[in-house]
Amino acid sequence: MMNVTKPSWITIPTELIGSLPRTTVLLEGQQAYKAGHMTENQLNILQDKAVRQTLAELEKTGPGQITDGEQAKPSFLVYPIAPLYPSSYSFDDIIDCFTITFSDGHQRALPRLMKAPFQYGKYAVDYVTRAQQYSRRPIKQAIISPSALSNVYPRATIPGYTREQFLDDLVNEVEKDIRLCLEAGADKVQMDFTEARLSLKIDPSGQLLKQFIHLNNRVLDRFDNNSEYQYKIGVHICPGGDRDSYHSLDVDYSSVLPIIFDLHASTFYFSLASERDRKKSLAIIRKFMKPNHRIFLGVIDPCDARVETAEQVCDRILEAVRYIPIEQLGTTDDCGYAPFSDDESTTRAKCYDKIRARVDGTRMAERMLNLRK
Ligand SMILES: [Zn+2]
Repeated sequence: MMNVTKPSWITIPTELIGSLPRTTVLLEGQQAYKAGHMTENQLNILQDKAVRQTLAELEKTGPGQITDGEQAKPSFLVYPIAPLYPSSYSFDDIIDCFTITFSDGHQRALPRLMKAPFQYGKYAVDYVTRAQQYSRRPIKQAIISPSALSNVYPRATIPGYTREQFLDDLVNEVEKDIRLCLEAGADKVQMDFTEARLSLKIDPSGQLLKQFIHLNNRVLDRFDNNSEYQYKIGVHICPGGDRDSYHSLDVDYSSVLPIIFDLHASTFYFSLASERDRKKSLAIIRKFMKPNHRIFLGVIDPCDARVETAEQVCDRILEAVRYIPIEQLGTTDDCGYAPFSDDESTTRAKCYDKIRARVDGTRMAERMLNLRK
């Protein structure tokens, strides 16, 4: 009798981007610390509690990989350099600092490097090992891209410290940031490349985007002799969410997506739920993706006040598999829920509802697609 092998069940992985709003107690602590009413040690204890609480709550949203909700990060952007404020950085010349303006008008600025050489004051591995103390689940860790931090030193303004020397130091530090997380056993390391789309607003010619990609590839290439690490490193692309608004949703996604595939990465986390024309974006992804790619698509919009239903998520996945092979598909949220630590625009309860809708909707689609085979 012929041995007929049944096709195996195809799992659609689903992952958080990273951040969640900080707990109320931690938000109050951050304020007290800022006002000088709390020591760093006291704040650290509150961060520790918030991480524990967040991990426990995320464990209840579904099985598998989780994050620490970035409870202890000041932001997704400046966590490695914030400990060096103010000795190595200045916000003084604010006009000259790299500033991001969001659709509701609020701004976020990067400080200017004042002291050479560029170095990290904190590596993300500290977040990984802390989370591992409190959860047995696989831990995903987001790290900041070199392209984002390249904006702290746009020109050689420190005597004797060239822009090239700075970029070399930056690339070394980001490589170390990633490597330490992987060596500590992080399940995935996600490079936050939120300025990809933004760059076309600053430079519509696309030259800046190409420079950003080249710089990020300098880091990604450091892992090209390790297929296990390569598999675990992903890149997140989004319109940059903060306080329920985006900084570059108005930049045409179709002019960003093709160039993104020049990145030497195998895993991508693309925002998609917030797009008006999802089919157009999906068609571009289909055209440029390679057989070794894993494409995580955003099926939840963290900036949308409405909570998506599992059925809606399922429908979005069924739409996506018309373009992307199910074996290469994953789901995620369009962005983190609070990339900056003071963002209180969405309640934690609502974030969990959205996460549960993603997890349940992904399982629903997975079941339907496997039974359909
Ligand atoms: Zn994002």
